[in-house]
Amino acid sequence: MATEIATRKTDIGPPHYQKYLPPVIKKNYGKWKFHEILKPGVLLHVAESGDKLYSVRAAAPRLTSTKTIRLFAEIADQFSGGYLRYTSRNNIEFLVTDEKQVAPLVERLKKEGYPVGGMGPSITNIVHTQGWVHCHSAASDASGVVKSVMDELFPHFEKMDLPGKLRIAFACCLNMCGAVHCSDIAILALHRLPPKINKEALPKMCEIPTTVASCPTGAIRPKMIDGKQTVEVIEEQCMYCANCFTVCPAMTLADAENDGLSIWVGGKVSNARHEPMFSKLAIPFIPNNPPRWPEVVAAVKNIVDVYAKNASKYERMGEWIERVGWPRFFQLTGIEFTKYHIDDFKHAGESYKRSAQLKHTPAEV
Ligand code: SF4
Ligand code: SF4
Repeated sequence: MATEIATRKTDIGPPHYQKYLPPVIKKNYGKWKFHEILKPGVLLHVAESGDKLYSVRAAAPRLTSTKTIRLFAEIADQFSGGYLRYTSRNNIEFLVTDEKQVAPLVERLKKEGYPVGGMGPSITNIVHTQGWVHCHSAASDASGVVKSVMDELFPHFEKMDLPGKLRIAFACCLNMCGAVHCSDIAILALHRLPPKINKEALPKMCEIPTTVASCPTGAIRPKMIDGKQTVEVIEEQCMYCANCFTVCPAMTLADAENDGLSIWVGGKVSNARHEPMFSKLAIPFIPNNPPRWPEVVAAVKNIVDVYAKNASKYERMGEWIERVGWPRFFQLTGIEFTKYHIDDFKHAGESYKRSAQLKHTPAEV
């Protein structure tokens, strides 16, 4: 007779999120009355039952050591009953039910060097990708650029002194593991040349069919050279995405001279006031200049300053630009409009302006 196999746990996916909700959230799930920001970095939720939850937000590093994680866990044990969460932009939030713990928690976080803020009309943590630290397709570093930019913009994290929310994202290639398509300001690193083929290494390292199939634009073709099966790249079809390098390490794109960064503006996910918007190109190319990328920092700061001075209350970057018009945006920021701003992708016609209505640009808006 066959023995019955004991039930085994085979699902290795993440546990159900409800398992880790703080008791106050479980109790009041879906029954919250209102929320308000009490001061930078402190958000209060009040439930229909009268229960209160204070979320205290601090800027956490995107790449976090075990020492830092242990520190956050120790702070959470002391002030928030062990409950914390990470936001989608890598802020850390401590979920506190005892109002008396809020002030000492803020003090402790500041003492440890973690600024409290990033809520409401401010700049929150920059969401970013792996960069040179980890990913093979990176056209720039991520942590280095983000640290340099945020060191400059940091006062806007602790104060709510901007017209509206300002969300910044960074991605180190156009495969875009960051939220660059939908952020108020997006920094996107890019390659500008097709892959260089190492003809010696390719037949030994790569499978020709998978290498050919890896290209989304069909730019890679099989080719026989000196009796060896290899590939060629139709350069006009290449969009420098580095997908082929993921599959075949003998096709490198990294190029110290030609890799660099572009800046995009006006994206958002929110439905408030205006439907979600895609980011659009502001600056096509800034060369890599490690370790502090001063040109990128200056460009982002300039856009933030112009937005802060000219946008109306609550207006997001894209909403402001739409109101004043793109010509006025380029005029106010002093950014040069070039041929690279004109979309020449084969489906571009669908996004071109098709009406006779024009946004004129008066001297003052
Ligand atoms: Fe890698 Fe590109 Fe993602 Fe950066 S954005 S981590 S280079 S895939
Ligand atoms: Fe194709 Fe992208 Fe490689 Fe260019 S970089 S050949 S588009 S896979």
